[in-house]
Amino acid sequence: MPAPRLSIRTTVLLALVLAVLMPAVALWAMEQRLAREVQQPLVTQYRQALVVLAAEALAEPLWTVDQTHTRAALERLVHEPSVRAVRLTERRPGAPVIVIVRPGASPPEFDEPQQPDAERPQKRQVLYEGQLLGELEVTFEASPLDRALLARRNAALALTVLQIVAATLLLMGVLYWRLVRPIERLKQQASLLGQPGAGPPVPWRSDDELGQLGQHLNEAQAQIKELVTRLEGQKAELQNMALHDALTGLPNRTLLNELLLRAMATARRDDQRLALLFIDVDHFKAINDAWGHAMGDRLLVDLAQRLRGQLRGGDVLGRHSGDEFIALLREPRTWEEVATTADRLLRVAEEPVHLDGRELQVSVSVGIALYPDDAGDPQQLMRQADTAMYEAKRLGRARCSFYRHELNAHLQATLQLEQELKRALAGDEFVLHYQPLVDAGTGAVVGCEALIRWQHPQRGLVPPLQFIPAAEQCGLIGQLGHWTVRSACAQIARWKARGLAFGTVAVNVSALEFRQHRLVDTFTRAMADFHVQPHELEIELTESVLMTDTDTSRRIIEQLGELGLRLAVDDFGTGYSSLAYLKRLRPSKIKIDRGFVRDLPDDEDDRALARAIVQMARALDITVVAEGVETPAQQAFLHDIGCDLLQGYLVSRPQPVDAFERLVLERERAPASPADD
Ligand code: C2E
Ligand code: MG
Ligand code: MG
Repeated sequence: MPAPRLSIRTTVLLALVLAVLMPAVALWAMEQRLAREVQQPLVTQYRQALVVLAAEALAEPLWTVDQTHTRAALERLVHEPSVRAVRLTERRPGAPVIVIVRPGASPPEFDEPQQPDAERPQKRQVLYEGQLLGELEVTFEASPLDRALLARRNAALALTVLQIVAATLLLMGVLYWRLVRPIERLKQQASLLGQPGAGPPVPWRSDDELGQLGQHLNEAQAQIKELVTRLEGQKAELQNMALHDALTGLPNRTLLNELLLRAMATARRDDQRLALLFIDVDHFKAINDAWGHAMGDRLLVDLAQRLRGQLRGGDVLGRHSGDEFIALLREPRTWEEVATTADRLLRVAEEPVHLDGRELQVSVSVGIALYPDDAGDPQQLMRQADTAMYEAKRLGRARCSFYRHELNAHLQATLQLEQELKRALAGDEFVLHYQPLVDAGTGAVVGCEALIRWQHPQRGLVPPLQFIPAAEQCGLIGQLGHWTVRSACAQIARWKARGLAFGTVAVNVSALEFRQHRLVDTFTRAMADFHVQPHELEIELTESVLMTDTDTSRRIIEQLGELGLRLAVDDFGTGYSSLAYLKRLRPSKIKIDRGFVRDLPDDEDDRALARAIVQMARALDITVVAEGVETPAQQAFLHDIGCDLLQGYLVSRPQPVDAFERLVLERERAPASPADD
């Protein structure tokens, strides 16, 4: 384990402090020592001189035994500032030992053998002409010298401290601004090197060594950044190459598997379906053989674009291999929706393409497997779609096939129905039947509803609910609607030409037709061509139109209103059932759905509902029609609660035009009750 090291900063700081502190302390100590050495001899000499002079001064009084002068001489000595005490020991027998202590000073220990030099008494014999008279002992105050030395020491100490503080502050300032701060910035800069989020280069104003290092780091950072960007670009490119097909740019098999896994997980979580379409170009080998591989490649690129164009944004199209593509349809609501998409793919694949001045046409076979209906894991789903694709090939190519056979049977029926519908439209196999609407009180016919039927050459008269959904599915509903509107207008014109007036004729318009502005043209043209007035025609729309309330549908409804056409809400109560649209749309009629009429007048709930609908419509000034009125009891109840109009088998079933005319004319001749047939 590496030994813990002090940071450079701390080390330099310590070194600086020591470098300043140690010489200062040494200098101070030396100065103290020198001062003492110089001053000590001077003091000693002075003291010796004082004692010698004092002994001289005492010789005379002692000789003459003049105690007054002796004492005076001793007193004078004591008054010397450095003297602390004196002791005179005479030789004269019986003479007292005189000790004088300076006032305020503590009496010294004259006979203490272990005394420091400075405090030891200085002794001097008092001689008179060679004869020993006594001994003088003087003790000195140690303090003056020490005081002087202390004062000097303090001054020196203060100076030294000042020097240390000033030097330290100065050095630390320099150290911080020139070393610590730049090092800190360098550290920061270095730690951000190569990091993606590193900001702009750190500005370095100073051009010293650290500044230069910082600038180098900036350059290095810029280079690393450029390198990283380049590497990321290459990485993305590599990833793209690894996951996408080089020819078509579509997801390749690896990415497809990944996307399929994810889509399955999402579908499982959200409890939704997923459709996998295995698309294989028919006879692609023959194309390659005949036109060359380059042409084959271009055809595949073109085909990929066309197929992609038929899918929604969230769907996936990938190239599985060679001439095989996979389409993943997310959240299909029904298998029919999947079949419709597959059909669009089949048709778009069959469009001829012009490459190098040649016209090429191919077809594809599509196999369809559904998750979770057909398989629970990706491989199995893929295998089953593949199996279904081979089935499509076996059945003659240029078609699609579901993995599940019953769906194929359905598909077959739908496809057949579609073909037949197309033929029926061309062959004018449709016919309108008319059902009267009568006044609930008087029974007078106020109008009729035009209801389409298909006169099938083999199956006879086919009711609308057996082919309208298929027509909606395969996109034929627009043409069918066009036919209905024009036929109804033509009939109005014929009745008018014969002087017959059967009131307003209502036509049913599918919710899907409200997605195309062509509907407005259809009405405008038909009304102009057959000179039909707006009040002679009425549009029945179901609540589902309002459920898919888009800008287009709203605009179409507005434009139809501008034409003067009135709207009736059909099958009221079965769909949206939001009252907000009634306020916005202001239909002229609402038609209570047959479902609410059937159990009248026995069912209590239906009675309450019917009453509520009538009251609400009254309040909004909307006419109420009851659909599917079959019994006199229903008729009586509806009349009682204030329902305006009735429609149903009680009055008449929908009739071919001749029968309808007869019925109305008979009723006009003998209007009795709404139920008179
Ligand atoms: P709808 O508009 O609600 O038409 C009323 C349906 O109820 C008609 O069925 C009619 O025959 C039936 N009906 C009338 N009175 C009674 C009754 O008393 N009892 C019973 N049980 N039924 C009665 P139809 O003709 O089979 O039409 C069914 C639906 O097909 C219509 O419902 C309408 O939504 C649609 N439809 C009919 N003709 C056309 C059309 O030309 N274009 C479009 N887009 N849809 C149409
Ligand atoms: Mg209707
Ligand atoms: Mg209805």
